[in-house]
Amino acid sequence: MVDLDKIVSLCKRRGFIFQSSEIYGGLGSAWDYGPLGVEYKNNVKRLWWRDNVHLRDDMVGLDAAITMHPKVWEASGHLASFSDPFMGCLDCGRHYRGDQLAEALADSKWWLSLKERKDKGSWADIQKWTQNERDGKKLAPNLALVKHPEEIIFLMQGVTPQVSDAVEETPKVSVIGPVGTTTVSPSSLSDEMFLRMVANHSSPCPSCGGRLSEPKPASLMLEIVLGPVKETGTLTYLRPETAQGIFVNFDNVLQSSRKKLPFGIAQIGKAFRNEITPGNFTFRTREFEQMEIEFFVRPGTDEEWHQKWIDARFQWYQTYGIRKENIRLREQEPDELAFYAKRCVDVEYLFPMGWSELEGIANRTDYDLKQHSRLSGRTLEYFDEETKQKIDPYVIEPSAGADRSALAFLVDAYQEEQVRGEKRVVLRFHPELAPTKIAVLPLLKKNSKIVETATRICHGLRKHWIAMYDDTASIGRLYRRQDEVGTPFCVTVDVQTVGDENKPPDGEVTIRDRDSMEQIRVPIDRLEAVMMDLMAGRWAKVYSESRKQPVAGASA
Ligand code: ATP
Repeated sequence: MVDLDKIVSLCKRRGFIFQSSEIYGGLGSAWDYGPLGVEYKNNVKRLWWRDNVHLRDDMVGLDAAITMHPKVWEASGHLASFSDPFMGCLDCGRHYRGDQLAEALADSKWWLSLKERKDKGSWADIQKWTQNERDGKKLAPNLALVKHPEEIIFLMQGVTPQVSDAVEETPKVSVIGPVGTTTVSPSSLSDEMFLRMVANHSSPCPSCGGRLSEPKPASLMLEIVLGPVKETGTLTYLRPETAQGIFVNFDNVLQSSRKKLPFGIAQIGKAFRNEITPGNFTFRTREFEQMEIEFFVRPGTDEEWHQKWIDARFQWYQTYGIRKENIRLREQEPDELAFYAKRCVDVEYLFPMGWSELEGIANRTDYDLKQHSRLSGRTLEYFDEETKQKIDPYVIEPSAGADRSALAFLVDAYQEEQVRGEKRVVLRFHPELAPTKIAVLPLLKKNSKIVETATRICHGLRKHWIAMYDDTASIGRLYRRQDEVGTPFCVTVDVQTVGDENKPPDGEVTIRDRDSMEQIRVPIDRLEAVMMDLMAGRWAKVYSESRKQPVAGASA
């Protein structure tokens, strides 16, 4: 699995993603999509919209405002309970999410270093760790064990009775501290017990080892005041999900589109959450984009529809290139479920930092529509013409992140390989996802006929695909550059194409395939037709049918 730092650096270097406000030192919780990034992310969103709205009979779209009436958030339950458990370090001031503390500790530098000593089994080693300038003193200056090693190691003898049975075979070791020896070796203590001891029974900070505050709920809602005068303005919130815009428009959409159950409303848009621990590049940010569907069904058919959506959404990521082994479904445990949800299944991707959520697919029951009916006083029921009965529809919600999807497709497409002794970095994007579909490259930029022909070809191709012209390096470098940004096809114009004093023009160009690096010669007047085939994934067929002439000049 590729390192996230490599992805961050490629994204910056090639204009996919930049840190927000970088010239002012950056804002860690927001990212800007550059020239290639905006095309790429738009492709992710366009494919989602096409497949979930345009290609289905039972879906329509919506684009609701980001700011909504404050009552919406009361009805939805966000004001009362949309929070994460916050823990702050009383020594270094860093913030943590209580439910993610164990993971943060498992990755913590000081813990990994201390655990190595613990597993070696010597108390003397551990004491050295606490005193060493490069180890405990530097990595965990605020850890109780580092501040008061004698006291803590002495304290550890107190656990002897609890563990001695299990460690009969453990050789006796000297314990540093006022009381002589014990049968307990550090390695015989569980990690959990050891951690409790080294932190003197409080939760240690993964960063400095200091003491953490008790977890307390921190709201994820970002407040705003609408109106020119703060004191008299309307206090509301930047929406933390797009879903509520759909629920409050349920009746408007129903009346105007005459849809019948089951049907869904889709929306793509920005959402904002005051995350405690934004990070891992675009995976967790305070401003992000969601791609959400609220699919309304008759009660009683909800479980079946839920399963259909789980299967469809799981397949969708694979259709556009995510490898089977890197994606999985995870059933949420009862204690993880949102209070209104009957069942929720997460689509997870194997990101560089481990398996993490890409999309949640929840059965939200009839909670939201009923709540909005109750608080707004406007009924949001569905009248069934057949049975002449009013129904409170159930809702299935596939809720995906555009930024997380874009990150997952990018990570999955990234590959490094050796080509003739040199490293080739290639993004094997599905052609529909690639930000640039075709690069038109002149073999010699000083030959005006070549440049003129290449420019003309590029402008022609642009009527159908995003095509770019580049003559700023040698052909080998230009190919590598296009590989690194995932351009599926390069079209090269060379001397043979335009002819010279010795040879008449052959009117053909070279098409090079990004993945196989194979090349074919194609007459310019057939280029568009061939490209149609290639974009549909038919390189192998086109290649085998091509005349396979040796290609002059343009090497892979
Ligand atoms: P997490 O557990 O990772 O915080 P969540 O379960 O709170 O996510 P949902 O409320 O289900 O997330 O939101 C639906 C989708 O929106 C997520 O699957 C994810 O793709 C995206 N998303 C949620 N929060 C963020 C965020 N802070 N940054 C980027 N994308 C996000």
